[in-house]
Amino acid sequence: MDKPSAHEYDALVVGSGIAGLEAALNLADQDFKVAIVERDASIGGKMIRLSKVFPTLDCASCITTPKMAAAAHHPNITIYTYCELRSLERQDNRLVARLRQKPRYVSVEKCIGCRQCEYQCPVMVPDAEQGGFAARKAIYIPFSNAIPQKALIDADHCILCGRCAKVCPTKAVNYLEMPEDLVLQSDAAIIATGYEVTPLANKPQYGNGSLANVITAMQMERLLAPHGPYNRLLRPSDGKQPDAVAYIQCAASRDQTVGIPYCSRVCCMYTIKQAMLISGALPLADVTVYYIDIRAFGKGYEQFFQNAQAMGIQFIKAKPAIAGNAVDGSVVLRYEAQEEDGRIVTAQHDLVVLSLGLVPGWSPQGVCSLACGADGFIKTPQPKIAPSLTELPGVFVAGAAAGPKDIVDSIAEAGGAAMEAANYLATRRRGGSALVAAA
Ligand SMILES: Cc1cc2nc3c(=O)[nH]c(=O)nc-3n(C[C@H](O)[C@H](O)[C@H](O)COP(=O)(O)OP(=O)(O)OC[C@H]3O[C@@H](n4cnc5c(N)ncnc54)[C@H](O)[C@@H]3O)c2cc1C
Ligand code: SF4
Ligand code: SF4
Repeated sequence: MDKPSAHEYDALVVGSGIAGLEAALNLADQDFKVAIVERDASIGGKMIRLSKVFPTLDCASCITTPKMAAAAHHPNITIYTYCELRSLERQDNRLVARLRQKPRYVSVEKCIGCRQCEYQCPVMVPDAEQGGFAARKAIYIPFSNAIPQKALIDADHCILCGRCAKVCPTKAVNYLEMPEDLVLQSDAAIIATGYEVTPLANKPQYGNGSLANVITAMQMERLLAPHGPYNRLLRPSDGKQPDAVAYIQCAASRDQTVGIPYCSRVCCMYTIKQAMLISGALPLADVTVYYIDIRAFGKGYEQFFQNAQAMGIQFIKAKPAIAGNAVDGSVVLRYEAQEEDGRIVTAQHDLVVLSLGLVPGWSPQGVCSLACGADGFIKTPQPKIAPSLTELPGVFVAGAAAGPKDIVDSIAEAGGAAMEAANYLATRRRGGSALVAAA
């Protein structure tokens, strides 16, 4: 992972989720020199944070970690984590990316990941990596299989007590570290900046994130994960094992009121997956899914849905609103019984999970001249015949950066983007073609 001093590469991959990793590995295996730029302190994107994956129920971390390690150890890949992409533009027929390396306040070269600093730090901060249900320290390694396994200081919470610097065996802590600006040059780029889930603050009918027992599906991923915050499924308000769990589908997808008219494509399937995992963990619990339509479109997905129904998971066609909390902390829902007589029904569940929609993980505005579609995702002018092409020559897109997508499609598209980039690079090396002239 030594960084060449000139910072020159064949291809730049922005984002290190499963799409970015796959694209980078594909290019690197063809002997192209690749730089991966990631804004988080670890590579891996959303997939490394999931519990298991539909439709196979494989452990997410068991599949993602080998890809992360392969990228980290590949001789043709250099990884820049904790970096902000400030601009990406073409100059003298090359792509120039300006990055800002955010300060970790810990030397990546010196840190050996021993965690002595974490044990000594007196400051506890809610751990976003565990859905906010557990705490981490102000100096921390992001999660157990993070790559790189290097600590960083959360400057917003550090009280500068000096304990971490005192205990660190390699003198890696440096409170005075400054941001560093880097310039990377490449011939091609792949944008793999993924997605975020819709913010809860947009949804007053779901409590704006203020009801402890109304959680997001991403938080449920952590509650179900092998290294989750409680190591078992408990509800956040009082640690009770839930007897009745409900899912509200399309909570901010296919919803003009929050400006998201599109289907987020993965929510039906991740809900079915989570419902099955809950039934496995708590066989006596009732699991109810309130849905508008169930979209189980992929290979093996319809069977997966049928298996969930056979397990006793209840599917009710309705779009409930949250009416508040009952005295025992359970959540009161109100909905119209669409498949019965249309009456208004009130139901109570110990825990309610919102299947939130997917929105773009990054906007190119102010960074580069890439165009976005009306949905805000990166525009692909030839979505049918060349789905990874963007409007900029030599810049390709992969995974959820181009629109909501599951892992299978993200990986397939990453392979396609890498192939497009490889062709583009080979053409440049041969010194010709209209594509290169256009650049
Ligand atoms: C609750 C939930 C459960 C899911 N479960 C499943 C499942 O079981 N099976 C399945 O197939 N799919 C599942 N999905 C969908 C799955 O998460 C996506 O298909 C997959 O993660 C997309 O990968 P990606 O690499 O495109 O994006 P991401 O995983 O979002 O990765 C994007 C990366 O880019 C980085 N980045 C963003 N902007 C920048 C920038 N400007 N500079 C540098 N880096 C940047 C981000 O930090 C991130 O690391 C689930 C989704 C959710 C919300
Ligand atoms: S900063 Fe020092 S104490 Fe903390 S993990 Fe790194 S080497 Fe260990
Ligand atoms: S200096 Fe900051 S990070 Fe280090 S131990 Fe003290 S509070 Fe924690």
